Amino acid sequence: MKGRRKFLGDMALTAAAASLARGVMAGPAQSAVASGGRVVSTWDFGVGANQAAWRKLSAGGSALDAVEQGARWAESELCNPTVGRCGNPDRDGVLTLDASIMDGDGRCGAVAALEDIDHPVSVARRVMEDTPHVMLVGEGAQQFAMAQGFHKQRLLTPEAEQAWQEWRERAEYQPRINVERNLKPGNKENHDTLGMLAIDGNGRLAGACTTSGMAWKMHGRVGDSPLIGAGLYVDNEVGAATASGVGEEMIRNAASFLVVELMRQGMTPMQACRAAIARVVRKRPEASKSLQVCFLAMSRDGEVGAFALHPGFVYAVCDAGRQDALHASDAVYDGAAT
Ligand code: ASP
Repeated sequence: MKGRRKFLGDMALTAAAASLARGVMAGPAQSAVASGGRVVSTWDFGVGANQAAWRKLSAGGSALDAVEQGARWAESELCNPTVGRCGNPDRDGVLTLDASIMDGDGRCGAVAALEDIDHPVSVARRVMEDTPHVMLVGEGAQQFAMAQGFHKQRLLTPEAEQAWQEWRERAEYQPRINVERNLKPGNKENHDTLGMLAIDGNGRLAGACTTSGMAWKMHGRVGDSPLIGAGLYVDNEVGAATASGVGEEMIRNAASFLVVELMRQGMTPMQACRAAIARVVRKRPEASKSLQVCFLAMSRDGEVGAFALHPGFVYAVCDAGRQDALHASDAVYDGAAT
């Protein structure tokens, strides 16, 4: 927790005019749609991803194109041990990527345990648009990607390989809560996801998730991010939700679907995220003390809300008013648990 605070402090100094406000809703909702849309993303790296997405939205592009663009930025421009080409591998030293994309009209696509293809979110979009299926995994997903013109390339970086070699000395699978991001070799961050939600100037919603999943996971493990309803759910009638944190908890609770359904029943995005976190705690009260789960949601008129199990979850908000805002989510537990 201390590391995260320090990191955020550093970021405020270095990252242009990024702001951090606790529990602040991101501007008047209706005007967001009228002024070209809004895009929100998990974590501090969401600022850069949002800006990539905003280039589409501000040019009148669709929410779907925007979230694909934002996720592609995270997969290749960002070098982070939890997303895309710089991701940490599984316990066998193999980097496997998970991604999903969903349009507010119900169309969706996903890939899981994809190896050696650098833009899983775009492969997920091709699954959505060019196959009768929703999800492809492993070798089949890779074959499909290559047939679609994606190039196979070794993605595991020397830094990630070194981190894995160091991890093997103790070989303990231990998800960490919000540790400081460390872009040096031997990095300590061991899980996070870019979850992105957008609404465009026509009021259409879309979302995307992309991640390398939990570092040092079992080979073949799939998290929530590529599972529609767990890590991502979008419905133009209501709103959209995405998640980050230990994916098994999201899967157990069909959590992103739950958040959207709670909004359908009349909750605000913030109330729905909070209620979903309460569900996670109720289901596994002891476990929830030592792992992180975070939800981010946006209603069909652009209102934004978030909630987490533990402090330290930040999310980025971008619209015509401001492209670099960073907000801190409220959480169930206080800093003592982290
Ligand atoms: N949800 C991701 C997974 O379980 C990891 C994360 O977002 O922290 O694969």
